[in-house]
Amino acid sequence: MSDYTNAPGTKLLATRCAVCSRPLLDAVSVERGIGPDCWKRYGTHVDPTRPAQWEAVMAALDGIEAVADVNPTLTPRDAANKLVYRIAIEQDGFAVLMRAEAIRLLGFDRLAWRIIERASDIRVVEGTTDKNDPCLYVTAPYNELSYTSWRALGAYWRKGEKRWCITVTSIGGMAAKRKGLWDLLKRFYSGKLGFGEHGPFVVRSAVSVAA
Ligand SMILES: [Zn+2]
Repeated sequence: MSDYTNAPGTKLLATRCAVCSRPLLDAVSVERGIGPDCWKRYGTHVDPTRPAQWEAVMAALDGIEAVADVNPTLTPRDAANKLVYRIAIEQDGFAVLMRAEAIRLLGFDRLAWRIIERASDIRVVEGTTDKNDPCLYVTAPYNELSYTSWRALGAYWRKGEKRWCITVTSIGGMAAKRKGLWDLLKRFYSGKLGFGEHGPFVVRSAVSVAA
């Protein structure tokens, strides 16, 4: 893990914004890994609304970031800045989502979610419907073949939000719906990067075992 600091690429300059992925055009932006617009919207205005959860931050970064680089001796702001810079260099992948999760755990929710939205294919959040029933909101790329499977799960498409709402109508139904959702994802979204209640995940297709 500590070898990370010697890895080639660590010294690379950020050329694209960590938040929106557009090219960085001036020296200041390159230095912080965020372009001027995203800095204004997500950089300067974000203050942690809750204390940094350092133990969880370090767990999220285990094997991804050198402890010497990001650790509880830093202010949450400085730690987030370092992670943003690394995200700007790498742009995509599981480690980028783990760093975004760490930024979220540091207290910078808005910044983290903006990066998560850009860098993940699938997002799953628990919520409630307009009728106040529990549900799962799922954002996933369009896949024509999956439509009937979504409907079979009791999902309906929320056009304005561009995401599925999987309704949960029975007690204990949430676990069953989660299981059904996972089966659907494995079937239609194998290899995709997702982000859920427990942070980032990769959809792995079920390995068929001869019975
Ligand atoms: Zn940007």
